[in-house]
Amino acid sequence: MSEEKEPVEVLRTPVELDYTYSAGVSASRFLRAVEQGKLLGQRCPVDGRVYFPSRGSCPQHGVPIEGEPVELSDRGTIVTFSVNRVPSENIDLELPYAAIQVLLDGADTTLFHVLGECSIDDVRMGMRVEAVWRPRDEWTISMQNIRYFKPSGEPDAPFESYQEHI
Ligand SMILES: [Zn+2]
Repeated sequence: MSEEKEPVEVLRTPVELDYTYSAGVSASRFLRAVEQGKLLGQRCPVDGRVYFPSRGSCPQHGVPIEGEPVELSDRGTIVTFSVNRVPSENIDLELPYAAIQVLLDGADTTLFHVLGECSIDDVRMGMRVEAVWRPRDEWTISMQNIRYFKPSGEPDAPFESYQEHI
C-alpha cells in the first residue's frame, strides 16, 4: 500500500540575479541630476507634455525628445494610492503605509513613491505632498535620495487638475 502524502503547495526558491545596467544618455543625465538633488523632466516637442523622468523619446509620438530638460518641483499631488501592509526591506516606514502616485508640479506623468508622516486614515486623492530628502551625505545616484513624500499642508488640489493622470 502506498503512503498518502500531502500535496506540495508552496516551494521556496531563493533567486538571485546580478546584472549590469547601462542607463543610456537620457537616464544618465536624469540620475546625475538626482545625485545633485534635482528632478529633471523633458518636454515632448509635439504636444508639450513633460515626461518625468526625462526620456530620450516620447512614448506616445515616437519622436526624439531633445532640448533642455525641465527642472521640476519636489512638490506634487497624490493622484492615487494604495495601502501597503507587507514589509519590504528597502522601505523603512512603519506598516501600514501608503504607496502613492505623485504628479509633480510641472509634470504630466506620475511618479511612484511612498508617503510618510501621515496616517493612512488621512491619505487621499488630491492631497498635496512634498519630498523628504535623505541627509545630503547619504545621497547616491538614485531616486532613493527621496526617503518619502509627506503632506505639505497646502489645500487639496481640485480633481480636475489631476483627473487625466489617474
Ligand atoms: Zn509626445
